[in-house]
Amino acid sequence: MARVACHNRLNSSDNSMFKPRGRLSYFLFVLPLLYIAFGLMATHVHAQSAPPKENQTMSDTLVRTDAEWRELLTPEQYRVLREKGTDRAFTSPYYETKQAGVYVCAACGQELFSSDEKYDSGSGWPSFYQPIDGLSSNKVDMEKDHTMFMVRTEVHCSRCGGHLGHVFDDGPKPTGKRYCINGTSLKLEPKEGDEGK
Ligand code: FE
Repeated sequence: MARVACHNRLNSSDNSMFKPRGRLSYFLFVLPLLYIAFGLMATHVHAQSAPPKENQTMSDTLVRTDAEWRELLTPEQYRVLREKGTDRAFTSPYYETKQAGVYVCAACGQELFSSDEKYDSGSGWPSFYQPIDGLSSNKVDMEKDHTMFMVRTEVHCSRCGGHLGHVFDDGPKPTGKRYCINGTSLKLEPKEGDEGK
C-alpha cells in the first residue's frame, strides 16, 4: 500500500508541469533565463573576439589578447570597454566638464570625439553630436545591440573594438545624433593652455 501511495504521489507531481497552467509558468520562468544566458554568451564571445596571439598591429586594427587587455586596463575600464558595461549615470567627470580638448579611446588612444562637438544632453553621460571626423567616421564603428530588451546602435572604437556607448536619433542640430558615451571609455587630452571651467 505504501509503495502504491508513493508512486501515485510521484505521478501527480510529474504531471502538474504539463498541465496548461503549469506549462505557462514553466516557460515564463525559463525564457528569461535563456535570454540572460544568451546575452552573457554574446558578451563573452565579444570579449574573446581578439585572436589569442601576441600583440600585433594590422593596418588600422589593434589586436590584443584578452589577457593583455586585463593587464593594460583597470578592472572598471575592462568591464566597460571589453565587456560592454555601462557607467552609472552622472558619475563621470567628463559628463559636465567644458574643458577643451580631444577625447581619445582609453584603451588604445585613438582620437574619437572633440570637445567642440560635446553638449549637455541631460542624460548623465558625456554626449557628442558627432565623432571627431564626422558622421561617416572612420574612428568609430556601429552595430545593432539587442540587449536590455531594446534594439539600440552600439558604438565602438574602430581601432581596438572597445565598447564606447550607443548612438541615438534625439541629438541636437546639425546632425540630430546623440553619441551617448561612457566616460570610462574615454581619456581627455586637454587643449594646450585651456584650464577648463
Ligand atoms: Fe580603442
